[in-house]
Amino acid sequence: MRIPFSKPYVTGREMEYIRQAIDGGKLTGNGEFSRKCARGLEEMTGCRKAILVPSGTAALEMMMILGGIGPGDEVIMPSFTFSSTANAVVLRGASPVFVDMRPDTLNMDETLIEAAITPRTKAILPVHYAGVACEMDAIMRIARARNLLVLEDAAQGILSRYKGRALGAIGEMAALSFHETKNIHCGEGGALLINDPAFVERAEIVMEKGTDRSKFFRGEVDKYTWVDMGSSYLVNEMTAAFLRAQLEEAERIVGDRLALWNRYHKALAPLEAEGKLRRPVVPEGCEHNAHIFYILLDSAESRDALMAFLKERGILAVFHYIPLDTALAGRTYGAPSPKPLGVTADLSARLLRLPLFIGLEPEEVIEAVFAFFGKERPKE
Ligand SMILES: *Cc1c(COP(=O)(O)O)cnc(C)c1O
Repeated sequence: MRIPFSKPYVTGREMEYIRQAIDGGKLTGNGEFSRKCARGLEEMTGCRKAILVPSGTAALEMMMILGGIGPGDEVIMPSFTFSSTANAVVLRGASPVFVDMRPDTLNMDETLIEAAITPRTKAILPVHYAGVACEMDAIMRIARARNLLVLEDAAQGILSRYKGRALGAIGEMAALSFHETKNIHCGEGGALLINDPAFVERAEIVMEKGTDRSKFFRGEVDKYTWVDMGSSYLVNEMTAAFLRAQLEEAERIVGDRLALWNRYHKALAPLEAEGKLRRPVVPEGCEHNAHIFYILLDSAESRDALMAFLKERGILAVFHYIPLDTALAGRTYGAPSPKPLGVTADLSARLLRLPLFIGLEPEEVIEAVFAFFGKERPKE
């Protein structure tokens, strides 16, 4: 492909920091770069405690362990998300309950949550699609009234805000991802953000194979032992050093992505006005991070035709999630949804994501989209 869908961005300081990490002589988890990244994330988001973990998936798994999600429990989540969101629940022996999406943001429709609550419901798991916030005020209100946890999948949400608050700093806990395809990355990586202090101490134990090793290193106990269930959720220092370089540039990276996103948004407005496609909607009060620029076509057929048309021109545009409720594992592990997920089925089949990465020249993509519709591009 001449124009790929995405390209991992590198700031240029990664190697220098990796070298420093190696020279530092301590390369296991919870080292200096890990701690710097965690402090940086705490300052950036205002969360109580950030913990670097190997992936967004790992952060989701830790949230479920810490949230005490267990066999027979139910967790309400959207169907239009990555498998990891649901796997984290299934791995605890609990069931995901999928609800439909809002037609504007493609996020979970908060008005459907109440009807999905049963005596087994333990948590709500909103996913901030494309870094655009879910309707968190409504979600938090329902959770407070029904005594449920709110565990945010903010994998795509770094530096996005909802009414001034960082995504990931609103629910009890949240997962961020630093996968290569995310705005800020270290190849594979993630963070668990904790906002409710009640979970902090146990998080340190769960990530250290169920031991109180973190306390030992702080000199709070004179030996460390196995005290709880846990696993290895640590990040080595080379990876943390890479991430540090990215986090230092995070504002600029997101700014550069926003410029590209805004370019698409403006240039494609005439096609939306003619009813050819729909552009993403960012509600008032939401500041997004330009993680994804997608368009919605009028049918699945035109989506597939545009995708093929762009591919012929060497441009890789891609669709997104196959709704989890329709997937084999979703049908196997999901609890029955109270209502059919009609909006999710419809919109997911008509969605196309356009290339978006730093260094992209969007004009050629924009030209090609106009050409597909046989339209002259108006002078701006
Ligand atoms: C990327 C992503 C994940 C998984 O993150 P990894 O770091 O790849 O494990 C989970 N949920 C959503 C919504 C994502 O976009």
